[in-house]
Amino acid sequence: MKIVLFSAGEAADEAAFSALGGDLAVLPVTAPLDAGNVDAHEDADIVSGFAGCDFSAATLSRLPRLRFIAVRATGFDNVDLAYCRARGILVSNVPAYGDSTVAEHAFGLLLALSRRTVPCAEATRRGDFTFCPDRGFELRGKAFGVVGTGHIGRRAIEMALGFGMTVLAYDAMPSPDLQARPDIRYVTFNALLAEADIVSLHVPATPQTDGMIGAAELARMKRGAVLINTARGQVVDHAALVGALERGHLAAAGLDVLPDETLLRHPDKFFAPDQAPSATQLRAALAARALASMPNVIVTPHNAYNTQEAFRRIVETTIANIRAFAEGNPINLVG
Ligand code: NAD
Repeated sequence: MKIVLFSAGEAADEAAFSALGGDLAVLPVTAPLDAGNVDAHEDADIVSGFAGCDFSAATLSRLPRLRFIAVRATGFDNVDLAYCRARGILVSNVPAYGDSTVAEHAFGLLLALSRRTVPCAEATRRGDFTFCPDRGFELRGKAFGVVGTGHIGRRAIEMALGFGMTVLAYDAMPSPDLQARPDIRYVTFNALLAEADIVSLHVPATPQTDGMIGAAELARMKRGAVLINTARGQVVDHAALVGALERGHLAAAGLDVLPDETLLRHPDKFFAPDQAPSATQLRAALAARALASMPNVIVTPHNAYNTQEAFRRIVETTIANIRAFAEGNPINLVG
């Protein structure tokens, strides 16, 4: 069976995949899967890739032998699961690999905003060592609102408690063990928005979470609150977020994820006559550019997952997923 490992980068990881052995032949490809390179791999039985891969029906339909997709991520919202189900293509993910990795990044964004780290560091880089005029704020005593109390949200809660923050939580399916704790208060979504000084998003991208933070929800947030998003871009209406920040209703935002990140990574696609972006995509891209240039916003390019420890776990679990599929006992299936 031929495995095409898209977004391959590190030699050690490629070697680990190549050691799968048996009748599994691995082809590492540096680029993510997309409509432009799919036809070069029409003999693939298995494909593997990250969130940046195009696993849409249009692209997958050009892989006639495809039987298995090993997503090297937790989120699999880039996979057309209905298409895969209809074609008998199995899909696996890496259910938990970096709970601390991602939660630490959420706090990295928050601390950088609360202590004005980026402008201070930019000034010293320019040789300007005068005192920073921007005054920050403490986390201790602030209300931390966690939306989604799964693997990553739980770690974020631990960290918030470590900073001496109070914790408000919202989840469609609250965890009984967290509900039983006196130091965590599950509240309604609206109550969390109204009471939290910091709102941190940890829900998956689903039809229910699409646009979960829109203009109405931003208006419900406290004046001067901070929004942190390390979940998925489509959870937030970014044009509405620009407005909330410009009006000064929100003090700041830390964003690791944006809608249509592939389009932002490859601006040439804006001008490709055969794949013209939709009005919605253009609106989101303009909002993303505006946000990235605002002094009270920090945007990182979907980097929350990117630690050595998390990567090692992603590779180990994906190899186990592929091996289990090849042996006829697939694990970590989604959809
Ligand atoms: P998880 O499945 O353990 O937890 C998600 C939680 O969200 C669950 O408790 C679930 O009940 C809750 N939820 C789902 N739909 C909801 C809704 N409509 N309203 C309220 N709560 C809802 O997932 P996780 O491992 O904590 O990861 C969360 C998300 O983080 C992933 O789905 C992925 O999109 C994102 N992520 C981002 C990065 C990154 O690099 N930025 C890395 C890993 C994961």
